[in-house]
Amino acid sequence: MRRGVFFLVAGPAGVGKTTLLKRLLAEEKGVIKAVSVTTRKPRPGEVEGVAYYFWDTERFTNAVERNEFLEHAVVHEHHYGTPKGFIEERLARGVDVIKDIDVQGFAQIRQMEQYRYPRSVGIFVMPPSPEALIERLKGRGSEEANSLEVRIRNAEAEMARVREYDYQVVNDDLDRGLFELKAIRLAEHCRIRNSQS
Ligand code: 5GP
Repeated sequence: MRRGVFFLVAGPAGVGKTTLLKRLLAEEKGVIKAVSVTTRKPRPGEVEGVAYYFWDTERFTNAVERNEFLEHAVVHEHHYGTPKGFIEERLARGVDVIKDIDVQGFAQIRQMEQYRYPRSVGIFVMPPSPEALIERLKGRGSEEANSLEVRIRNAEAEMARVREYDYQVVNDDLDRGLFELKAIRLAEHCRIRNSQS
């Protein structure tokens, strides 16, 4: 049986990654999201075990010590980690797994032998312009600890790493971004050279 494809999707805060992935998961079959653990507080509407597993710092640190995460990183002053097990099990069953991740987590996973290209597909979601991203960040953020300036600086540093990825999706319009994501998935399913199976 064909192995599932592991998609890692990164991009600066405010670029619309979460909305894009939600739409993709609602519209496509045979793909599942890997749910992470975070120490940040749930935002309104976020459900435990769906958006994230919301843990306190002590529980998170204990899990790190027990080596329970594939990767973990501090993003905007909170811990985030990808639990092991779930992903490998789904991939082995032929299900695609999609994980939204920050640039540090992506780099960590890409360094692991088992997830090196072609074992994972890295997609970077770009804003249509720096100005558009700043507008989105302004409209967002009261729950975020960092100032607008810090978030803009983080976004610039993240976007400078786009060449580490296999694909770029410019999220100008949601339908267009979604179309591109679906096209990338389809292309990966049609892949022969460096294919997963
Ligand atoms: P948010 O708190 O807005 O949901 O996510 C903040 C950032 O953390 C986003 O860039 C998101 O992709 C990233 N993130 C979410 N889950 C994980 C994870 O398990 N590991 C890492 N390294 N980053 C994550």
